[in-house]
Amino acid sequence: MIPMVDLKGQYHALKEDIDRGLLEALEETRFILGPNVQAFEQEVADLLGVKHAISCASGTDALHLALRAAGLGEGDEIITSPFTFIATAEAIRYIGATPVFVDVEPGTYNIDPEQVEAAITPRTRAILPVHLFGQPADMLTLGDIARRHALLLIEDCAQSFGADIAGNMTGGIGLAGAHSFFPSKNLGCYGDGGMVTTQSDTIAEAVQVLRNHGSRERYHHDIIGYNSRLDELQAVILRVKLRHITELNRERRRVAHAYSERLADCVTTPFEDGIGTHVYHQYTLLSNHRDAIQQALGTAQIASAIYYPIPLHRQKVFAEQCRDLSLPVSEQLAARCLSLPIYPELQEAQIEQVCAVIREVTLG
Ligand SMILES: *Cc1c(COP(=O)(O)O)cnc(C)c1O
Repeated sequence: MIPMVDLKGQYHALKEDIDRGLLEALEETRFILGPNVQAFEQEVADLLGVKHAISCASGTDALHLALRAAGLGEGDEIITSPFTFIATAEAIRYIGATPVFVDVEPGTYNIDPEQVEAAITPRTRAILPVHLFGQPADMLTLGDIARRHALLLIEDCAQSFGADIAGNMTGGIGLAGAHSFFPSKNLGCYGDGGMVTTQSDTIAEAVQVLRNHGSRERYHHDIIGYNSRLDELQAVILRVKLRHITELNRERRRVAHAYSERLADCVTTPFEDGIGTHVYHQYTLLSNHRDAIQQALGTAQIASAIYYPIPLHRQKVFAEQCRDLSLPVSEQLAARCLSLPIYPELQEAQIEQVCAVIREVTLG
């Protein structure tokens, strides 16, 4: 059996440090915004080269808080990708704004800057690109568009922790970046967790207040905020994993390249645009025989998954808004994409086993 992710393998590799840290934190009993949360925020800020890193309860909250901190809200249009997890668009709706979906590039599956520019209206206030599957979106072109049209640029980094563009880490390029520490993400904890990173003092201050009941000073409440804090115990786990993130992402790239070498002649393998470093949160191929491949993998006890089967503009929740919207690239991707097991601990023999099944189905 080969699973999509092997959280147990990684826990056992880091068990000693994680267990010791957890026991210490239990003795310490400073469970809310305690010393590990503070240390983790500083360590992420240092690693990503950002001025501020403010943790919160989930990646969805990180998006929500970042958008609100940026002053976005009712009546605003925010241009984003339809080929992503629902949370990207949910956060836009939480603040009363409208997600405007534009199509993605067929190679990278990331938002197409040309389509972004074409969708700008007088109500457009921001662009929210997703660094999908771990490959940075084209932030250079998007940044240029944002500047020319005076739009805010906020990054969904939920799948791209540790990815960079020419040495600039995702999450530190736009006005703010939203990260997720959901267990299966590149940097995952053992529950929910999230973070906003930013170079802006104003955004950082606003997120800090929003995540803690609108309070700067205890029992003084300036605005209506939220209870959205990273758990101290999760911070312990994240600090241990953060020390290994560069090597863990390198191992993901090793697995991806091993897949691509063996599969290039039978499916469309992921395209690296060479602009940024792909950290392969997912390894997602395209094939007209997607369903047959998935079935054969299942028979061979190998997990696979379809990210994403229905683009957001085709979801029931956006049906009314998107009735006449056709985004052919996203629709094609949804019909042909398949994600294979990928995690740093995946061995050559297992990669070989997965590829043998796919080669058999596609080449006969
Ligand atoms: C996982 C994910 C989120 C949400 O993160 P949570 O921590 O699960 O709330 C947002 N956007 C994308 C692209 C994701 O993959």
